[in-house]
Amino acid sequence: MARIVMKFGGTSMAGTERIRRVAGIVKRQQEAGHEVAVVVSAMAGETDRMVNFCREANALYDPAEYDVVVASGEQVTSGLLALTLQAMGCKARSWLGWQLPVHTNNAHAKARIESIDSDGLLASMAAGEIAVIPGFQGLEPSGRVTTLGRGGSDTSAVAVAAAIEADRCDIYTDVDGVYTTDPRIVAKARKLPLVTYEEMLELASVGSKVLQTRSVSLAMKEGVRVQVLSSFIDENAPAADTLPGTMIVSDEELEESDMERQLITGIAADKNEAKVTLTRVPDKPGAVAAIFTPLAEANINVDMIIQNVAKEKGETDVTFTAPQADLARTLAMLEERKDAIGFYRLISDDKVAKISVVGVGMRSHAGVASTMFKTLADRGINILAISTSEIKVSVLIDADETELAVRVLHTAYGLDAAA
Ligand code: ADP
Ligand code: ASP
Ligand code: MG
Repeated sequence: MARIVMKFGGTSMAGTERIRRVAGIVKRQQEAGHEVAVVVSAMAGETDRMVNFCREANALYDPAEYDVVVASGEQVTSGLLALTLQAMGCKARSWLGWQLPVHTNNAHAKARIESIDSDGLLASMAAGEIAVIPGFQGLEPSGRVTTLGRGGSDTSAVAVAAAIEADRCDIYTDVDGVYTTDPRIVAKARKLPLVTYEEMLELASVGSKVLQTRSVSLAMKEGVRVQVLSSFIDENAPAADTLPGTMIVSDEELEESDMERQLITGIAADKNEAKVTLTRVPDKPGAVAAIFTPLAEANINVDMIIQNVAKEKGETDVTFTAPQADLARTLAMLEERKDAIGFYRLISDDKVAKISVVGVGMRSHAGVASTMFKTLADRGINILAISTSEIKVSVLIDADETELAVRVLHTAYGLDAAA
């Protein structure tokens, strides 16, 4: 017998029929003799719809009230899955974020899980009950509801798995594993049987939304075994216990396997960033801090930063990227501080995309970045900004060129599946 956490994403939970299929998969795992806890997302599109309602209600919305609205999508699906399981003759109950509870800090809309009280959950599972937990939700110290940031149900699942010391955390989604790039963009993408925590972390952080970044860092820290696999399967599909999906593994486990290591593991695209430029910022100590300190205090994650060579003596342009979801707040905060910072114009562009290539192999190989620049140049794709880390190179380009860029890079790094 094993203890398994099963997580189902929005596409898997979109409507009665799909929830019935999910309930069938869960029931089968229980019948295989496992103790199971299930973490669910809201139905596909629901969270987006509610985010839009919040924006319409108040463009500069209060994140605490936003959380009240968007946490509701998962409440619906957790109740529906419990009902469906009961209709199939299983014992099941839902555990809302505040009931477990899932304790978080108070960074509304992007809260961090601090701990999960799992005693009630473990007792109910030991009694043969299937625990259904809405992902994405938490409870902050003063008692208000929080959410974990978009895609946060993955993190809920990994956190529950860590709290109950599960043998495995299976993340069921609408693709059958982690691919060399989004298989919806590149038909020749290849499925990876194994990927290391470190590479998955980097891929997720640069936009491979198959797993939320925090879920990967948490799994790495807590040593949770994570598998990504498809929920769109029939009864004859290989059981999850045979590991049909992609396993996230340590570097040592990958070394021990017979998987051949490529220079580049994967390519990711992110269209959710926006570019902000402040022109004619005074070129003096403290100017850059005056821009970024308030953004950091407001929990806005700034990514690429470029400071241009001064055109005028004593002045410089500063360009950076931040999540599109935070653009309105970013612009409002900077505009408010216009005199204190001393810039001339504030320009923003949300029609940009960040394309990143990731691979541990680039530590020991030169030329990854130059291949990227040359491949894009050959297609006439202009690079607006660049950033690098030890195992990643990212470029910012025009959003319209995203698909083309990912496709040509996938070919250039030799990742295409054989026809
Ligand atoms: P869920 O609703 O199950 O959480 P998501 O939409 O968040 O699902 O994540 C699954 C999607 O991630 C896939 O449909 C796919 O388009 C996308 N994706 C992006 N990069 C990759 C990748 N490298 N491998 C697999 N899927 C990827
Ligand atoms: N429903 C939330 C979202 O769409 C959380 C999740 O699905 O993981 O972001
Ligand atoms: Mg997701």
